[in-house]
Amino acid sequence: KLFNEVQEAKGNIRVFGRCRPLNNAEISVGCNTVVDFDAAKDGCLGILTSGSTKKSFKFDRVFTPKDDQVDVFADASSMVISVLDGYNVCIFAYGQTGTGKTFTMEGTPQNRGVNYRTLEHLFKVSKERSETFSYDISVSVVESKQETEVAGMTYLEMVIRLEVKQASEGFHHVPGVVEAKIDNINEVWNVLQTGNNARAVGSNNVNEHSSRSHWYQDLAKNLLNGDCTKSKLWLVDLAGSERLAKTDVQGERLKEAQNINRSLSALGDVISALAAKSSHIPYSPSDQDVGETLSSLNFATRVR
Ligand code: ADP
Ligand code: MG
Repeated sequence: KLFNEVQEAKGNIRVFGRCRPLNNAEISVGCNTVVDFDAAKDGCLGILTSGSTKKSFKFDRVFTPKDDQVDVFADASSMVISVLDGYNVCIFAYGQTGTGKTFTMEGTPQNRGVNYRTLEHLFKVSKERSETFSYDISVSVVESKQETEVAGMTYLEMVIRLEVKQASEGFHHVPGVVEAKIDNINEVWNVLQTGNNARAVGSNNVNEHSSRSHWYQDLAKNLLNGDCTKSKLWLVDLAGSERLAKTDVQGERLKEAQNINRSLSALGDVISALAAKSSHIPYSPSDQDVGETLSSLNFATRVR
C-alpha cells in the first residue's frame, strides 16, 4: 500500500526534453536553430517550422543547451531512488543520431552522464539506508543487436536486491554476461562505457553506518525482517530514431538495420498503447533536421 501511494504521488511516466547546442559543423554550413526556449521554464519548447509557424511541445521539464549533466541528473535522481524502494524503473534516451543520447546517458570522463551518476547515487543512498536495509547491487552492460530484444539499444541493467536488516551473501547473477565485482564507484567508469560486446560489472554488498528517515522506517515496517524484494533499473541508450537507409547497407548490417527499424516501431507501438496524455522529447536544434526533430517530438507526445 505504501509503495502504491508513493508511486501514485510520483507518477508513472515522465518525459524530459533536452536540446544540445548547435555544433561547429552545423554552424559552419550556416544552419540556424529551430528550437525556441521562450517558455522552457514552463516545460514548453517551440519548434519553428517552415512558414514561420511555431509548434509547441509540453514536457515535464525542458533542458536547454545551457543545462549541464548535473541539471539533468537532478531530475533523474528521484526516479533512480524508486528502484531502491523496490520499483522497476526504466530511463531511456530517444532521438536522432547525433542529438546527444550517448552524451546524456554515458557522458564523458569530464562530463559524466546519467549512468555513472546513477551508480554513484545508488551507492550513496544505499549506504545511508544501511542501518535499515541491506542492498545487493548488480550491474550489467549489454549492447543488443538481437531481434529478440529491442535491437540497437545499449542498456545498463541493474538488479537490486533489497533485504531488511540481514546481510545477504554474494551478488545477483545475470545469466549470459560476465560479472566483475566492484567495490567502489571509481572503478566503474571504464566498464560502463559502451561500444563493445556485452560486458558487465558486478556489484556490492553495501553495509554500515548512517542516517535514517521516517520513510525508510515505514518501508522497513512493511517488510518483515529478512524479507527480500528485487527490482530492476534499466538505463537505455537507444539506436538513432531516424530510419536507416536500407540501400546503404548489405548483409549483416542490413539485417541489423531492419531489426533496429522493427524494434523502434515496436517500441513506438508500446508507447502508443501506454499513451493517455501528451508530452514530447526534442532533438537536433538545427533547421536541416527539422523533420526528424518533429518526428521525435511527435513520438514523445504520445507518452504521457
Ligand atoms: P547520439 O548518441 O544521440 O548519437 P551523441 O551523444 O554522440 O549523440 O552526441 C553527438 C555529439 O554532440 C557528441 O560529440 C556530443 O559530445 C555532443 N553533445 C551532445 N549533447 C551535448 C550537450 N548537451 N552539450 C554539448 N555537447 C553535446
Ligand atoms: Mg549514441
